[in-house]
Amino acid sequence: MKVSKFGGTSVANAEQIKKVAAIIQADPTRKFVVVSAPGKRFDSDKKVTDLLIDLADAVLNEKEVESKLDHVLNRYKEIAAGLNLDQTISDVIEEDLRVRISKDQSNMELFIDSIKASGEDNNAKLISTYFTSIGLSAQYVSPQAAGLVVNDYPERAMALPEAYENLSNLKKTSEIVVFPGFFGYTKDGLLRTFDRGGSDITGSILAASVQADLYENFTDVDSVFSANPKVVNSPLEIEEITYREMRELSYAGFTVFHDEALMPVYKKGIPVCIKNTNNPSSPGTRIVAERKGKHRPITGIAADSGFSILYVSKYLMNREIGFGRKLLQILEEEHISYEHTPSGLDDISVIFRSHQLNPEKEQRILTRVIEELHAEDVHFRHDFSMIVLVGEGMNNNTGLAARAATAISRTGANIEMINQGSSEASLAFGVHKSSENKILRELYNEFFAPATVR
Ligand code: ASP
Repeated sequence: MKVSKFGGTSVANAEQIKKVAAIIQADPTRKFVVVSAPGKRFDSDKKVTDLLIDLADAVLNEKEVESKLDHVLNRYKEIAAGLNLDQTISDVIEEDLRVRISKDQSNMELFIDSIKASGEDNNAKLISTYFTSIGLSAQYVSPQAAGLVVNDYPERAMALPEAYENLSNLKKTSEIVVFPGFFGYTKDGLLRTFDRGGSDITGSILAASVQADLYENFTDVDSVFSANPKVVNSPLEIEEITYREMRELSYAGFTVFHDEALMPVYKKGIPVCIKNTNNPSSPGTRIVAERKGKHRPITGIAADSGFSILYVSKYLMNREIGFGRKLLQILEEEHISYEHTPSGLDDISVIFRSHQLNPEKEQRILTRVIEELHAEDVHFRHDFSMIVLVGEGMNNNTGLAARAATAISRTGANIEMINQGSSEASLAFGVHKSSENKILRELYNEFFAPATVR
C-alpha cells in the first residue's frame, strides 16, 4: 500500500487534479493521498499559501480584506468549475474561510497558521469531492479527527509520538483517504503548521504511521538532479539515493523534498520515490536505506546562500576550558542555531543562517563576546554560500578533497571554510556568495563530466 503526496504544482488547477485522479486510478494500492494547497500555475503566479498569508496580514492590519479573500476563493472556484463540480464545494470553502478570519487574533502566529493551513485543508475537501464525483470511493480526513497531534506553541511544530499511533488507525479505512498536508493540532486543539513545504512532512508521518510499502512524492520534475539545473546545464538525473545523501542535499538547497520529511520514513525504513505528476511513467528517484551501485564518489552537489560567519579569536583559546560552550551559549540565548564551527588553535568561526540575525542582535553578541570572553578579535561576515558535495561513495576515497579544492581554485575563489563530517558522506565548502554558481559548475565538471568519472 502506498501513500502518495502531491505538491502545489500537481494540484494547481483542474487539469493537474485530473492527472492526480488518473494516477490514483491507475494503481489501487494508492490508498492515501496527501495534498498541498494549489501552487503556481505559471512562473509569475502566486501560490494559494502566499495569497492566504496576504489575507491574514490584511485582517491583522485592518487593510482591505474582501479583495484578498476573493482572490483565494476564485482560485478554488476556477478549479471546481474545471472539474464540473457544483457550487456546494465553493460555498463550503467560503464559509470555512470566513469562520477562520473571524477567529481570535490575540496570538498572531496561530491566527496566521489557521488561515495558511486552509489552503491544504480546503483543497483536500475539494479533491475528495472530485474523486467521488468520478466514481472513486474516497473520503476527506481531517488531521484533527485523525489525531495528528503536534507539540505546543512556541516551539517549532513537530508531530508527537502518539500522532503515529492515532494515524495508524486510518489503515482500517476502506475508502481512499484524502488528507491535507502541512498542519496538525496541539492537544488543546490549536492548529499549527509545519515549516513551508511541510506537506512533505505530513506525507512522511502518514506513511510511517500506516507502515506504507512506499511513500510517493509527486512533484513537477522527473527526478532529483545531481545539481541545480538552473545553474548546471542538463545535470545527471539521480536514480537512487540514500536517506543520508538526500538529507544532506535537502539541507543545502535541494528543495524537491523537505529535509524534515525524511526522518519519519527513515526510522521505519520506508522507501520514498520522487515522481512527476506530468510524466508518471518515468521511474523517478528512489530514496532508500542502502544503495546498490556506488559508481561515483559524489551523488549530488548542492549550493545554498544566506550564511553568516561569526569570527572570534583569542590567543591561547585552545587551553581555555569552556570557551566554546560559553560562546555557543551566547548564541543560544539569542535564539541562533548554528550549522558549522570550524576552529583553529586561537580562533573559531561559527556559521549560521543569516536570517536569524538583525543589527541589534549582532551588536549585543559582539559586546558580550568581548566583555565576557575577552576575545581579541570578534566580527561578523555576511553573504556566504555553502557548497556541499554529497555521496556515500566518498567514504575512503582518497584525494577527493584535493580534487574539489583544486577545482574551486580554478575559479579564483577563496575557500573560507572546509568541513567534512565524520560520516564522510559530505564535504562542505564555505565560499563568498558571488562565486557560488561558477564553483558549482566547476565542481560539477570535475566530478560528473563523462571524461572524468573516477
Ligand atoms: N502549501 C505549503 C507551502 O507552500 C506547504 C506545501 O505545499 O508543502 O509551503
